[in-house]
Amino acid sequence: MPAQRTLRTPEELTAAGLLDQREVTEARAVGDHYAIAITSAMADLIDQRDPEDPIARQFLPNKRELITTQAERADPIGDAAHSPIKGIVHRYPDRVLLKAVHVCPVYCRFCFRREMVGPQGDGTLSTEEIDAALNYVRQHKEVWEVILTGGDPLVLSARRLSEIMRKLADVPHVKIIRLHSRVPVVDPAAVDDELLAALKASGKTIYLALHANHPREMTPAARAACTRLVDAGVGMVSQTVLLRGVNDDPLILADLMKAFVENRIKPYYLHHPDLAPGTSHFRITLAEGQRIVASMRGSISGLCQPTYVLDIPGGHGKTVIAEGAQQQEDGSYIVSDFRGGVHRYVDDC
Ligand SMILES: *Cc1c(COP(=O)(O)O)cnc(C)c1O
Ligand code: SF4
Repeated sequence: MPAQRTLRTPEELTAAGLLDQREVTEARAVGDHYAIAITSAMADLIDQRDPEDPIARQFLPNKRELITTQAERADPIGDAAHSPIKGIVHRYPDRVLLKAVHVCPVYCRFCFRREMVGPQGDGTLSTEEIDAALNYVRQHKEVWEVILTGGDPLVLSARRLSEIMRKLADVPHVKIIRLHSRVPVVDPAAVDDELLAALKASGKTIYLALHANHPREMTPAARAACTRLVDAGVGMVSQTVLLRGVNDDPLILADLMKAFVENRIKPYYLHHPDLAPGTSHFRITLAEGQRIVASMRGSISGLCQPTYVLDIPGGHGKTVIAEGAQQQEDGSYIVSDFRGGVHRYVDDC
């Protein structure tokens, strides 16, 4: 087995044959702004003969990231406005985000938190800061669910993760702990017995929202990691970002959703790309997204349908971007079926 190594610099990417000489200068300029990392599991998946490779596109720095549009913003979904204490984002009454760590195993070029994650980001919370954040949760009895995100919470050591889990065990009103992670896909070997034991240390119901964007990411090793999680009693859902040149194609997206369901992962969210700086080359229009989502309806099982959501810029939260149901002036709705047929629906109540 080759050494499992994460590539972090333009020079390492070049040595691995992933960038050429011209790209390396551009990559340095990108690296001055945004963190770079690709795990060996993902680097090995890249087809170097394909200039449009969807895995490369997600992880290799590109000079287009140096272009920032006027609408783009450092905090695209407005986390900061809803942060009562370091590490906590409390936007919805019954659930909070706990951002214990701001590093990730890979750095996705389209990341909506790209200004906050990485070695130059906010760092990992100290034990005291975690305790203060957990105190906030303890004092807010309306918090039913704690969502560990970041950064990627599964980069925490099993010891630190189980510490957090054990502290959450003492908060009776918290019933659900959800983790958002890319680790089972980008570093499947990290899903080992210690990590599984750490996840279970709270005794609470655990969900893991797996972030994956292309069916090729669901490698045999990634599938095995998901099997270990589900067999250990972790409920799994998925989250995918709809990205130009990666998965803006109904057939690719359908393959990804089917791969999730085959591995007992319920498709959850399909995110419209956020207005993160230097990511305009990843964005598609809402109408394009709606067309892609509508064409999956009917062509694949209802189990495979994700909910297409937009995080409204400025911190207004997520909204479901309805495919059909546009209300007309006379109060009726125009709805379209999966074949593109158009029908009128009138409320009757
Ligand atoms: C997305 C998000 C959540 C989770 O929302 P769900 O719809 O429950 O998945 C919670 N808090 C914040 C601040 C979020 O941005
Ligand atoms: S793993 Fe998540 S938080 Fe980390 S860079 Fe990718 S999208 Fe951003």
